[in-house]
Amino acid sequence: MKARLRVFEIFQSISGEHSIFPQGSMCNFIRLAGCNLSCRWCDSVASTHSCSGEIMCFDQILAQLNNEIKNVILTGGEPLLQEQTNILLPLLKNKGYRVSIETNGSVYPSKEIMESADCLVLDHKLPSSGNGRSRMLSAAQYADIAVSHPSVYIKFVVADEKDFIFAMSTMSAIMYQIYSKYGEEDVEKAKANIPIFLFSPILGVYNVQTLFDNLVSVRGYNALINVQLHKLVDMA
Ligand code: SF4
Repeated sequence: MKARLRVFEIFQSISGEHSIFPQGSMCNFIRLAGCNLSCRWCDSVASTHSCSGEIMCFDQILAQLNNEIKNVILTGGEPLLQEQTNILLPLLKNKGYRVSIETNGSVYPSKEIMESADCLVLDHKLPSSGNGRSRMLSAAQYADIAVSHPSVYIKFVVADEKDFIFAMSTMSAIMYQIYSKYGEEDVEKAKANIPIFLFSPILGVYNVQTLFDNLVSVRGYNALINVQLHKLVDMA
Protein backbone atom coordinates (compact mmCIF):
# COMPACT_ATOMS: atom_id res chain seq x y z
CA MET A 1 0.00 0.00 0.00
CA LYS A 2 1.40 3.38 -1.00
CA ALA A 3 1.97 5.73 1.95
CA ARG A 4 -0.26 8.74 1.62
CA LEU A 5 -2.50 11.05 3.56
CA ARG A 6 -5.39 13.38 2.86
CA VAL A 7 -3.89 16.82 3.43
CA PHE A 8 -5.89 20.03 3.65
CA GLU A 9 -2.92 22.41 3.50
CA ILE A 10 0.79 22.79 4.21
CA PHE A 11 2.22 26.19 5.06
CA GLN A 12 4.85 28.00 7.09
CA SER A 13 3.88 30.40 9.85
CA ILE A 14 4.41 31.20 13.51
CA SER A 15 3.37 28.96 16.32
CA GLY A 16 0.44 30.85 17.83
CA GLU A 17 0.26 28.76 21.00
CA HIS A 18 2.45 27.25 23.69
CA SER A 19 3.96 23.86 23.01
CA ILE A 20 7.46 22.46 22.81
CA PHE A 21 7.95 25.23 20.22
CA PRO A 22 7.95 28.69 21.81
CA GLN A 23 4.98 30.84 20.95
CA GLY A 24 5.92 33.02 17.97
CA SER A 25 8.53 30.65 16.52
CA MET A 26 8.50 29.69 12.85
CA CYS A 27 7.04 26.29 12.08
CA ASN A 28 5.96 24.14 9.18
CA PHE A 29 2.27 23.31 9.52
CA ILE A 30 0.74 20.18 8.05
CA ARG A 31 -3.03 20.35 8.35
CA LEU A 32 -4.66 17.00 7.69
CA ALA A 33 -8.23 16.75 6.45
CA GLY A 34 -11.20 15.27 8.29
CA CYS A 35 -12.48 15.58 11.83
CA ASN A 36 -14.72 13.45 14.03
CA LEU A 37 -16.01 16.41 16.07
CA SER A 38 -17.98 19.47 15.18
CA CYS A 39 -17.07 22.33 17.47
CA ARG A 40 -19.29 25.39 17.60
CA TRP A 41 -16.33 27.77 17.36
CA CYS A 42 -14.18 25.74 14.95
CA ASP A 43 -11.80 28.06 13.08
CA SER A 44 -10.95 25.48 10.45
CA VAL A 45 -14.34 24.18 9.34
CA ALA A 46 -13.29 23.63 5.73
CA SER A 47 -10.64 21.12 6.82
CA THR A 48 -13.08 19.04 8.87
CA HIS A 49 -14.69 17.40 5.84
CA SER A 50 -13.15 14.04 5.10
CA CYS A 51 -13.12 14.73 1.37
CA SER A 52 -11.49 18.17 1.66
CA GLY A 53 -7.92 18.85 0.60
CA GLU A 54 -6.07 16.35 -1.56
CA ILE A 55 -4.46 12.98 -1.22
CA MET A 56 -0.71 13.39 -1.13
CA CYS A 57 2.10 10.84 -1.04
CA PHE A 58 4.82 11.41 1.54
CA ASP A 59 7.31 12.72 -1.03
CA GLN A 60 4.84 15.46 -1.97
CA ILE A 61 4.34 16.34 1.68
CA LEU A 62 8.08 16.54 2.35
CA ALA A 63 8.60 18.67 -0.76
CA GLN A 64 6.24 21.35 0.60
CA LEU A 65 8.06 21.66 3.92
CA ASN A 66 10.71 24.31 4.36
CA ASN A 67 13.65 22.24 5.56
CA GLU A 68 15.36 25.33 6.98
CA ILE A 69 12.61 25.26 9.62
CA LYS A 70 12.99 22.15 11.70
CA ASN A 71 9.71 22.48 13.62
CA VAL A 72 6.59 20.73 12.33
CA ILE A 73 3.12 21.15 13.79
CA LEU A 74 0.82 18.38 12.67
CA THR A 75 -2.76 19.55 13.04
CA GLY A 76 -6.18 19.24 11.46
CA GLY A 77 -9.02 18.53 11.34
CA GLU A 78 -8.07 15.65 13.59
CA PRO A 79 -4.62 14.35 12.61
CA LEU A 80 -4.88 11.05 14.50
CA LEU A 81 -7.84 9.79 12.45
CA GLN A 82 -5.69 8.84 9.48
CA GLU A 83 -3.75 5.67 10.20
CA GLN A 84 -0.83 6.59 8.03
CA THR A 85 0.04 9.45 10.35
CA ASN A 86 1.79 6.62 12.22
CA ILE A 87 4.16 6.26 9.29
CA LEU A 88 4.64 9.95 8.51
CA LEU A 89 5.94 10.78 11.98
CA PRO A 90 9.02 8.51 12.00
CA LEU A 91 9.76 9.70 8.48
CA LEU A 92 9.75 13.34 9.59
CA LYS A 93 11.97 12.44 12.54
CA ASN A 94 14.45 10.74 10.22
CA LYS A 95 14.61 13.94 8.17
CA GLY A 96 15.58 15.89 11.27
CA TYR A 97 12.23 17.54 12.05
CA ARG A 98 10.80 17.91 15.55
CA VAL A 99 7.08 17.25 15.54
CA SER A 100 4.32 18.55 17.76
CA ILE A 101 0.85 17.05 17.28
CA GLU A 102 -2.30 19.05 17.96
CA THR A 103 -5.10 16.59 18.57
CA ASN A 104 -8.67 17.12 19.75
CA GLY A 105 -8.68 14.95 22.85
CA SER A 106 -11.03 12.32 21.46
CA VAL A 107 -8.53 9.83 20.01
CA TYR A 108 -6.02 7.90 22.11
CA PRO A 109 -2.61 8.25 20.40
CA SER A 110 -1.20 5.03 18.97
CA LYS A 111 2.03 3.45 20.21
CA GLU A 112 3.79 4.79 17.10
CA ILE A 113 2.61 8.33 17.80
CA MET A 114 3.61 8.10 21.46
CA GLU A 115 7.09 6.98 20.43
CA SER A 116 7.65 9.43 17.59
CA ALA A 117 5.98 12.71 18.56
CA ASP A 118 8.17 15.21 20.39
CA CYS A 119 5.13 16.84 21.89
CA LEU A 120 1.40 16.15 22.22
CA VAL A 121 -1.11 18.96 22.62
CA LEU A 122 -4.50 17.49 23.55
CA ASP A 123 -7.35 19.96 23.14
CA HIS A 124 -9.95 18.85 25.65
CA LYS A 125 -13.33 20.19 24.53
CA LEU A 126 -15.48 22.04 27.04
CA PRO A 127 -19.31 22.46 27.12
CA SER A 128 -19.39 25.57 24.91
CA SER A 129 -17.82 23.57 22.07
CA GLY A 130 -21.05 21.57 21.75
CA ASN A 131 -19.24 18.24 22.14
CA GLY A 132 -20.47 16.01 24.94
CA ARG A 133 -18.07 14.85 27.66
CA SER A 134 -18.48 11.26 26.44
CA ARG A 135 -16.69 12.13 23.19
CA MET A 136 -13.50 13.03 25.06
CA LEU A 137 -10.76 10.86 26.55
CA SER A 138 -11.24 10.15 30.26
CA ALA A 139 -9.11 11.64 33.03
CA ALA A 140 -7.49 8.21 33.47
CA GLN A 141 -6.57 8.11 29.78
CA TYR A 142 -5.07 11.62 29.89
CA ALA A 143 -3.10 10.56 32.97
CA ASP A 144 -1.80 7.48 31.15
CA ILE A 145 -0.66 9.64 28.25
CA ALA A 146 0.98 12.17 30.57
CA VAL A 147 3.03 9.55 32.42
CA SER A 148 4.02 7.77 29.20
CA HIS A 149 5.21 10.78 27.22
CA PRO A 150 7.72 13.44 28.30
CA SER A 151 6.01 16.44 26.73
CA VAL A 152 2.23 16.65 27.11
CA TYR A 153 0.06 19.76 27.06
CA ILE A 154 -3.67 19.62 27.79
CA LYS A 155 -5.49 22.58 26.36
CA PHE A 156 -8.84 24.09 27.31
CA VAL A 157 -10.49 26.64 25.03
CA VAL A 158 -12.61 28.68 27.41
CA ALA A 159 -15.69 30.66 26.31
CA ASP A 160 -17.40 31.30 29.65
CA GLU A 161 -17.44 30.59 33.38
CA LYS A 162 -19.08 27.22 32.89
CA ASP A 163 -16.21 26.18 30.63
CA PHE A 164 -13.72 27.41 33.21
CA ILE A 165 -15.33 25.32 35.95
CA PHE A 166 -15.35 22.23 33.72
CA ALA A 167 -11.69 22.82 32.83
CA MET A 168 -10.77 23.06 36.50
CA SER A 169 -12.60 19.88 37.36
CA THR A 170 -11.00 18.01 34.43
CA MET A 171 -7.58 19.27 35.46
CA SER A 172 -8.14 18.13 39.06
CA ALA A 173 -9.37 14.72 37.92
CA ILE A 174 -6.29 14.21 35.73
CA MET A 175 -3.98 15.24 38.56
CA TYR A 176 -5.78 12.93 40.96
CA GLN A 177 -5.27 10.05 38.53
CA ILE A 178 -1.56 10.82 38.24
CA TYR A 179 -1.03 11.09 41.99
CA SER A 180 -2.97 7.84 42.47
CA LYS A 181 -0.59 6.03 40.13
CA TYR A 182 2.43 6.84 42.28
CA GLY A 183 0.99 6.83 45.77
CA GLU A 184 2.08 8.92 48.75
CA GLU A 185 5.63 7.60 48.76
CA ASP A 186 6.49 9.03 45.37
CA VAL A 187 4.90 12.47 45.23
CA GLU A 188 7.90 14.00 43.46
CA LYS A 189 7.63 11.51 40.60
CA ALA A 190 3.91 12.26 40.30
CA LYS A 191 4.63 16.01 40.19
CA ALA A 192 7.20 15.50 37.43
CA ASN A 193 4.53 13.84 35.30
CA ILE A 194 1.85 16.50 35.63
CA PRO A 195 1.24 17.87 32.12
CA ILE A 196 1.10 21.57 31.35
CA PHE A 197 -2.49 22.83 31.25
CA LEU A 198 -3.10 25.54 28.68
CA PHE A 199 -6.05 27.88 29.18
CA SER A 200 -7.00 29.58 25.92
CA PRO A 201 -9.64 32.29 26.20
CA ILE A 202 -11.72 32.73 23.05
CA LEU A 203 -10.70 36.25 22.12
CA GLY A 204 -13.57 38.71 22.18
CA VAL A 205 -15.73 36.17 24.02
CA TYR A 206 -13.96 35.42 27.30
CA ASN A 207 -12.01 38.18 28.96
CA VAL A 208 -8.27 37.50 29.41
CA GLN A 209 -8.24 39.50 32.67
CA THR A 210 -11.08 37.34 34.03
CA LEU A 211 -9.14 34.24 33.09
CA PHE A 212 -6.04 35.62 34.77
CA ASP A 213 -7.96 36.45 37.95
CA ASN A 214 -9.54 32.99 38.00
CA LEU A 215 -6.22 31.25 37.46
CA VAL A 216 -4.21 33.09 40.09
CA SER A 217 -5.62 30.83 42.78
CA VAL A 218 -4.48 27.67 40.97
CA ARG A 219 -0.92 28.59 40.03
CA GLY A 220 0.45 25.36 41.45
CA TYR A 221 -1.38 23.33 38.83
CA ASN A 222 1.03 23.90 35.95
CA ALA A 223 -1.50 26.21 34.31
CA LEU A 224 -0.51 28.64 31.56
CA ILE A 225 -2.58 31.33 29.89
CA ASN A 226 -2.42 30.58 26.20
CA VAL A 227 -3.59 33.65 24.31
CA GLN A 228 -3.75 32.59 20.68
CA LEU A 229 -1.16 34.82 19.05
CA HIS A 230 -2.20 33.88 15.52
CA LYS A 231 -5.62 35.42 16.19
CA LEU A 232 -4.05 38.76 17.16
CA VAL A 233 -2.02 39.32 14.03
CA ASP A 234 -2.80 39.36 10.35
CA MET A 235 -1.20 36.17 9.12
CA ALA A 236 -1.87 36.81 5.46
S1 SF4 B 1 -11.76 19.33 16.76
FE1 SF4 B 1 -10.71 21.10 15.86
S2 SF4 B 1 -10.95 20.85 13.63
FE2 SF4 B 1 -12.42 19.45 14.63
S3 SF4 B 1 -14.33 20.63 14.68
FE3 SF4 B 1 -13.27 20.94 16.65
S4 SF4 B 1 -12.06 22.81 16.38
FE4 SF4 B 1 -12.67 22.09 14.33
